[in-house]
Amino acid sequence: MSYVSDVMEQVVARNEGEREFHQAVREVLDSLEPVIERHPEYQEYLILERITEPERVIMFRVPWFDDKGRVQVNRGFRIEMNSAIGPYKGGLRFHPTVNLGILKFLAFEQVFKNSLTTLPMGGGKGGSDFDPKGKSDNEVMRFCQSFMTELFRHIGPDTDVPAGDIGVGGREIGFLFGQYKRIRNEFTGVITGKALSWGGSLIRPEATGYGTTYFAEEMLATRNDSIKGKVCTVSGSGNVAQYTVEKINELGGKVVSLSDSHGTIYDPEGINAEKLAFVLELKNVKRGRIREYADKFPGVEYRQGQRPWSIKCDCAFPSATQNEISGADAKTLIDNGCFVISEGANMPTDPEGVEVFLDSKILFGPGKAANAGGVAVSGLEMSQNSLRLSWTREEVDQRLKDIMKSIHNQSYEAAEEYGMKGNLVAGANIAGFIKVADAMMQQGLV
Ligand code: NDP
Repeated sequence: MSYVSDVMEQVVARNEGEREFHQAVREVLDSLEPVIERHPEYQEYLILERITEPERVIMFRVPWFDDKGRVQVNRGFRIEMNSAIGPYKGGLRFHPTVNLGILKFLAFEQVFKNSLTTLPMGGGKGGSDFDPKGKSDNEVMRFCQSFMTELFRHIGPDTDVPAGDIGVGGREIGFLFGQYKRIRNEFTGVITGKALSWGGSLIRPEATGYGTTYFAEEMLATRNDSIKGKVCTVSGSGNVAQYTVEKINELGGKVVSLSDSHGTIYDPEGINAEKLAFVLELKNVKRGRIREYADKFPGVEYRQGQRPWSIKCDCAFPSATQNEISGADAKTLIDNGCFVISEGANMPTDPEGVEVFLDSKILFGPGKAANAGGVAVSGLEMSQNSLRLSWTREEVDQRLKDIMKSIHNQSYEAAEEYGMKGNLVAGANIAGFIKVADAMMQQGLV
């Protein structure tokens, strides 16, 4: 058995039941066979065994009072996966499905993604099985304060810098930062995604969606094409989806779908700026359901319980959650003429779906490359906090564009160098991995 498959077997045996973690590790390791052949020193120093083992896992109890005065208990996590190239960095997810395996998959992906951004950031991820849906602002605040009352001792601006993810937006970041500041009595860049008036960066809310769209532009440019005039489907309707729609519109494309965990809206006329403003208010302020979009605008179809993948499109931007595109969905997309997939979400395509996309030779941008714009601007927020300066919107946007271009180039070139031209899944895995592996080698057995 090869070294790589041997490690994979150990990962499965040692992390029983952590399905998503196995999936994420398998996808990376599958790309690394040729790298290990060329670099036997990685095997000698057990780099694969070490890179798949978190440096530290923190799990804790989060007790809080709901509005009726009843005690509630949730579980909190922080996975500090790898700090070879910088402080741990990665978001917090609040969603009832959160468990150890899901956060380990996200932390593992984050290591390679952060490496690709060219910024000095290690990989981490955290969160809770707390569900912010249906909770009052006060309940969310009490939960965030309790969560931070434990988390604060493990994080810091040079140690571990969390950010948002599913269920953690501006409101939650505010409550978490406030409690950290109160306990530590210090005002530092310990969290990113902060509001502008207290240390946030321009373009951070937009960064993931903008970046995913820039990445699609980069892929299209290799075929002398662009987003202009393309019909696009987007899933999700949260932070990533919203700014993906905004950027696609700006670049002259037309977005015809959005979704949430209950269903999909199909708007053949396109989600223009006015309709997008309605979505932002609906999702970020009223915290309502995407179905209400179909009630509001004529000619819109609501597809209960469905995802957007049966809608005919040129480009698809999955931006909701993991494993939202199955092998069958991928086939439907291809059969309907879709030839660009830029993943805004993390691991939205399941392994069968990835195979379909790779086999069909379409332009396929895997999440760890395509959605790295969010963490890249988080990295820029950290730099601005350290400098105690803030850059203009144009400056941050230009840096974001340059970073997305560099991520595309690194992934494209690594794939070509290792004989897999056009395969950005392998390219992103290889380019992200080599930088971290070399740093681990140079820092000795830690
Ligand atoms: P939000 O919480 O803002 O939005 C998530 C959206 O996805 C909502 O519309 C939500 O619907 C939907 N969704 C969540 N879980 C499910 C599910 N199990 N099934 C169907 N729909 C679901 O999160 P973000 O936009 O921040 O994150 C979306 C994806 O992008 C995630 O995979 C995240 O890891 C990834 N990502 C986010 C980054 C960021 O900067 N925010 C950076 C890089 C990646 P509902 O409201 O019904 O729950």
